[in-house]
This record gives sequence, structure tokens and C-alpha cells, in this order.
Amino acid sequence: MELIDIGANLTHESFASDFSQVIEDAKNANISHIMLTGTDLETSLAAQALSAANPSMHSSTAGFHPHVASTCDDAAFAEIARLSAGNYVVAVGETGLDYNRNFSSKSDQLTAFERHLELASDVNKPMFLHQREAHEDFYRLLAQYRDKLIGGVVHCFTDNEAALKDYLNLDMYIGVTGWICDERRGLDLQRITPMIPLDRLLIETDAPYLLPRNLGSKPKNRRNEPKYLVSVLEKVAECYQVTPEVIAKATTNNAKRLFNLDF
Ligand SMILES: [Zn+2]
Repeated sequence: MELIDIGANLTHESFASDFSQVIEDAKNANISHIMLTGTDLETSLAAQALSAANPSMHSSTAGFHPHVASTCDDAAFAEIARLSAGNYVVAVGETGLDYNRNFSSKSDQLTAFERHLELASDVNKPMFLHQREAHEDFYRLLAQYRDKLIGGVVHCFTDNEAALKDYLNLDMYIGVTGWICDERRGLDLQRITPMIPLDRLLIETDAPYLLPRNLGSKPKNRRNEPKYLVSVLEKVAECYQVTPEVIAKATTNNAKRLFNLDF
């Protein structure tokens, strides 16, 4: 079995002291490739450097998360554009809209999101997208640019059935995290995930966040890691009522196709 984690924030400080062990543990759990998420200029640069150092194990994204959209000035975005056009960066993002906490103003988020949409169409790479409590604005902009984009993933999908159908109608891929393992807030996601055609499904940990709640023994530090992707895989397989191997094969092929991974 071979698995690809399409979203892990391994440039996060919580991995600073044991990064190589985390990667070893992931390999032992059949994770053959981990995409490193860039969420601002610093993490996008770091993720690209880690990918350049080990391209068979890592590739990266470059962008500004909606939380920090207000810090996405011209100089920083020029660097994101340079990274996105280059090697090892396989998607533009993380970008999108998050009205759940509004750490950046709505208008700053909308401006930054639109710049990333334009960039992705310029460099002809897929998008790595985040949407929380912002479906209407997010969908409107995505639909407006869709013809110019080669594709993308709505990562860490947690919205409802109507939003899911909208994204599938735009032929987007859908990323499912350990949110689906949550026996309380994950119930709706468990119900609607099998509506995602198997050729549009991706799985991810979003480490160090979203530790799956169905783990047998939970780590004391509550840190999520790529090796726990297996728990996401098993829950997703249960929802589709297929074997984990079926989901592993489909999601690995999908990641390779969407992000043009060759390793
Ligand atoms: Zn996200």
C-alpha cells in the first residue's frame, strides 16, 4: 500500500526538533510522499527548500493562508510568484477565504485570494484551497476563474452537501482530513464524503492540527503527524464501505495526477 499526504504543515515549530523521525515514522506507515503546505512567505520558502533537499519524499505549495492575507504585500507576493513558477512547488496556496475567525479582514482576504487565482492561471499549476464559512464568496471567485485554472483541491473540506456539489460541479478535487474521524462534529462529513467520486478524492492530515479522534492511543503532546494518515484512510474507507486498499490506490493516483508528481 502507498499513501500520499497532500497537506502537512511540517515547517511548523512543533516539528523542529524531530523532523527526520517524523518522516521515518511516516515511511513506516506507508506514506510515500508528503506535500508541505506553505501558508506565508517564510513557510513557503522553508517548504520549498525541504522539497528541493528530498524531492522524492516532498513537494510543496506556496501562498498566503487567508488568516494572514493582510500581510501579503507586493514584495512578499512577488516571492510567492517566483516560487510558484519554479521547481518543487506543485500548487499555488494555501489560499482562499476563512470567515470563521476573520484574522484578516474580508476585503484583504478577497484581494489576496484573487491574486493567487491569477497567479495559478499564469503559472499553470493547480490550487491548494481553504474555505471556512465563506462558501458564497469563495465559490463565486473560483467559478469566475475556473476556465483559466488547470484544477485544484478544496483542502480540509468541512462544509455541507450543497457546497460539496458546487465544488464537484467545478471539477475540483476534495481533501478529507481527520475531521471525518470526529464522532461529534464529523458526522455530516462521514455521510457526504462517499458522494465524492473516487477519482476526485484526496486525503491529508493537516498536521500538526486535527489529530484524528479515533486513534487507539493518543500522543501526549496532541500533535498530529503524517503517520496518522492511516486513521483518516480507514475512516474514509468505512464511509465508502470499501477496503482501505481501494481508497489508498485511488487517492494516491489522484494526487499524482492533480499535482503532476513524479517520483
Ligand atoms: Zn487550511
